[in-house]
Amino acid sequence: MTGISAVEVKKYRQLIAGEWVDAEGGRTFDDLNPYNGEVYAKIPASSGADARRAIVAAHKAYPAWAAMGARARQALFLKAADIVERRANELVLIMAQETGAASPFSRFQIQWAVGLLRQAAGYPYFAGGEIVPSETPGVFAMAMRKPLGVVAGISPWNGAFNLALRTIAAPLACGNTVVLKPSEEAPVSAGLVVGEILTEAGFPAGVLNVITHAPGEVGPVADQLFESDEVRAYNFTGSSATGAMLAERAGKHLKRIALELGGYNPLIVLKDADLDYSVSTAIFSAYFHQGQICMNSRKILVEQPLFDEFLRRFVEKAKTIKAGDPADPKTKIGPLINDRAVANAKSRIAQAVAKGARIVTGGGCEGRCFEPTVLINVPTDTPIYCEEVFGPVVLIESVDNEQEAVAKANATNYGLTASIMTQDVWKGITLAGQVQAGLVNVNGPTMAGEPQIPFGGVKDSGWARFGRWAVDTFTDLNLVTVSTQNRQYPF
Ligand code: NAD
Repeated sequence: MTGISAVEVKKYRQLIAGEWVDAEGGRTFDDLNPYNGEVYAKIPASSGADARRAIVAAHKAYPAWAAMGARARQALFLKAADIVERRANELVLIMAQETGAASPFSRFQIQWAVGLLRQAAGYPYFAGGEIVPSETPGVFAMAMRKPLGVVAGISPWNGAFNLALRTIAAPLACGNTVVLKPSEEAPVSAGLVVGEILTEAGFPAGVLNVITHAPGEVGPVADQLFESDEVRAYNFTGSSATGAMLAERAGKHLKRIALELGGYNPLIVLKDADLDYSVSTAIFSAYFHQGQICMNSRKILVEQPLFDEFLRRFVEKAKTIKAGDPADPKTKIGPLINDRAVANAKSRIAQAVAKGARIVTGGGCEGRCFEPTVLINVPTDTPIYCEEVFGPVVLIESVDNEQEAVAKANATNYGLTASIMTQDVWKGITLAGQVQAGLVNVNGPTMAGEPQIPFGGVKDSGWARFGRWAVDTFTDLNLVTVSTQNRQYPF
């Protein structure tokens, strides 16, 4: 079964209760190719009624899915992983045309997604429990993990495919059913194609539902997701501003929400670091996926003796990276997602320059293809000094010593990832304990993309942890006791 009908511009349907259906009233919106601005696909523009139908379908499918044996559930995840591998080349093209991802990033997403599915295939066996000692004579106590019910997944456009899978994999594997609402910027890569894969793998009807909405029309869909009693928890990946707002909404109904949010990820180069390797690590960290990854480095802090030479080599290398057509396999970085993203990057740079910052390279763009940009002398009271700009823009700054590097690395409300480049690994480990981030890499990039790690941030970067730790988030721990002898009561 497929959501695609073969016309010139692909027309998609959404997935509700195992059926590929139009939105209420047949409404659609145009999904644009960020590289050339052409219409990539026609997508259902859901209303609140569509969201409601998806929630009802997920609720109906829940008891049978929760009761399904671990082996049967595992087999479905393994089959889905095989399908992703089989469709890899097609997925690369979809991500290029819909989200501007060049092949190094889309191939990275695919191998992560395959890993996620194979990892999640083991979770049905993790969601067991343990025997708990009881102080009451003759009482046998068991802590048992149980799924929560319907989980709403809300996913972003940037790591569209792998993050959509991260949004659904652990909740489903733990026995929950899911309503996935992908970003309006990537409804295919972050949602509909995932529905196709799981449907082909044989996931029962209603276990995964995918609903899409037009830009500016999330309101009625979100109202259903946040006001319906059937939805018991949320798995959100996106910006800190949206995450904070949705956490408040979930909190109003005392519902659980997993949050994976933005980052402002420092990369520290200590004076004993390998300079060449540090430059290539920093270049990759700053510009992979044209700076549109939550884990990209936004600020590079270089200990003084290396600063001038690091800056020279970094700028020389940055100038060799050209953004282009992401559908061309030779392209390393593609366009920004939309005109709003381009305007935001430009205005943040202009703001910094107006306050005294200097552009050492970059700053311009052709269409939505933005030049790799380096800023120095950025005043600390400029927003770009501590806030995420989702584009290929990095600040480079010199520091006098390790403690200044750590203080400046922590001078942001975010806390997702960080890197420390040094040939003294123990010094790196010691400083890693002082940097406020969920993931710190010594002698590696600020990106950490493996499905089995406890991925997640601190501070404004959220609080969820993926890898096997997600099982705790998407299950309840319930106590069951058995009294093996009659108990004594006071009356
Ligand atoms: P966003 O917050 O604009 O959107 C994320 C999702 O939230 C989308 O599906 C969007 O439609 C939805 N949304 C927006 N307003 C909503 C509302 N009122 N009610 C319900 N849903 C709503 O973020 P984005 O631009 O899609 O993604 C980029 C951001 O995500 C960056 O800040 C990036 O750092 C962050 N991110 C974090 C991680 C991580 O793992 N920590 C991964 C990828 C992206």
